[in-house]
Amino acid sequence: MCDAMIEVRDLRKSFGSNEILKGINMTVKKGEKVVIIGPSGSGKSTPLRCINFLEIPTSGTVKIDGHYFAKPNEKLNEKHVAALRTEIGMVFQRFNLFPTMTALENVMAAQMKIRKKSKEAARETAEKYLKKVGLAERMNYYPSQLSGGQQQRVAIARALAMEPKTMLFDEATSALDPELVGEVLNVIRELAEEGMTMVLVTHEMKFAKEVGDRIIFMDGGIIVEEGHPKEFFHNPKEERTKTFIKKVD
Ligand code: ADP
Ligand code: MG
Repeated sequence: MCDAMIEVRDLRKSFGSNEILKGINMTVKKGEKVVIIGPSGSGKSTPLRCINFLEIPTSGTVKIDGHYFAKPNEKLNEKHVAALRTEIGMVFQRFNLFPTMTALENVMAAQMKIRKKSKEAARETAEKYLKKVGLAERMNYYPSQLSGGQQQRVAIARALAMEPKTMLFDEATSALDPELVGEVLNVIRELAEEGMTMVLVTHEMKFAKEVGDRIIFMDGGIIVEEGHPKEFFHNPKEERTKTFIKKVD
């Protein structure tokens, strides 16, 4: 047993000659909720993408539950990556549901393809998680027949159906009409209360204060400041943090 769920050590990432992550260190304990905030382009998404193998770090390491997940420049075969990725659920701004599949089929697909579950088992799990996100009545609808908030809840159910150890949310509500944000935040809040380990990038400051055990503020590819939400928002230490908080308040 290991106390840390996610351990990121000196993570650096360059695109060409442009170093956009300049040494990120982050430990997320089991059950902890960490919220990353910061201006657009500050490098909030890239650490999540490295954690989930969507990017390979230029240097540094990522460990999940004590196992190395990402090592610099290591060529990982696709099967290996797919297996490791199931340990981590990720929800993006764009839901990326398959348009020709119903909600139920969307949530079943990866379970069968990657987890090699039977159709019956995948259906049972899909139903369980669609109910959990409040879509019991919408399982047989196609994405085009669902609102943005409902589609994002399908995407959350799809991630949960893989029974991941940790969830990453990258601006999960940023593409939604304002009146649909609440229903998605409620689902995330409920998961948080159940003890899911999670890292969230969000612009919803009120939500960050409520749900976060810790706030990380990034700017220019580094962690400028981090702390408990109360301390962080009421008593920020760095000038850059103060300026940012004033702007988003
Ligand atoms: P944030 O999520 O805070 O908006 P990102 O982590 O997405 O920031 O990106 C940080 C910087 O890295 C941005 O300037 C972005 O343009 C750049 N960047 C991100 N992904 C790529 C890529 N695949 N190729 C080149 N530049 C990228
Ligand atoms: Mg981003």
